[in-house]
Amino acid sequence: MSEHIYEIPLNDYFGKKNGECPFCGIRKMLENNEIEAITGASMMEPSIRIKTNEQGFCAKHFDSMLKVGKKLPVALMIQSHMETIYSNFERMKPEKFEKYIFSLQNDCYICRRVEYNMENVFSNFFDMWEKDAKFKQLAGEQSVFCLPDFQKMIFYGQKYLSKKEFLTFYGVIYEIQKKHLEELLDDIDWFCKKFDYRFREESWKNSKDAPERAVRTITSVYPEGKNGNFDKI
Ligand SMILES: [Zn+2]
Ligand SMILES: [Zn+2]
Repeated sequence: MSEHIYEIPLNDYFGKKNGECPFCGIRKMLENNEIEAITGASMMEPSIRIKTNEQGFCAKHFDSMLKVGKKLPVALMIQSHMETIYSNFERMKPEKFEKYIFSLQNDCYICRRVEYNMENVFSNFFDMWEKDAKFKQLAGEQSVFCLPDFQKMIFYGQKYLSKKEFLTFYGVIYEIQKKHLEELLDDIDWFCKKFDYRFREESWKNSKDAPERAVRTITSVYPEGKNGNFDKI
């Protein structure tokens, strides 16, 4: 159970074409699987408990576990993690304890697992790009990538593809992203113009959630913001 390999459904997520970054969709799915596993079958497994005691969780994933998991098992996991922290606190000199807390703040069992699996996702992605003509076409039909995943496509593309093939690949994703960024810029431009009295009576067009969509593209996270409540603007 501890190191189960995911069937990576690249075709499914690239086939959705729902206006969201397909890699973000896969990441969300992996994240949900990890949260389900850690609050379920993996919870009591000693080898995993050793890892969660050491690595802990980030605030976001502690929150997900507390929301999804049963109260007592999640509390037991937090208790044994706290015990590890306390024993380090007792025995470490301040310089060492400072470094330990710093690394703990930047560590998370679930983030590590998701990132590890995302590496496989990108390796599979470029494997399919090279060998599967249908998938290559599907990849070229996307309309949006978030910037963090655009960075990863460049990073892993240079790693897995020949120089020549990488340039072809970059040409494809460059055109997709250029169109996407230009549309976002148009939308946010219109959003700002709507505050000018001369445009007050005109339609919002597609701009109502332009700031939120821009943040999602920049960070990969759609912010709660005003949740479309435009009376508060
Ligand atoms: Zn993304
Ligand atoms: Zn995390």
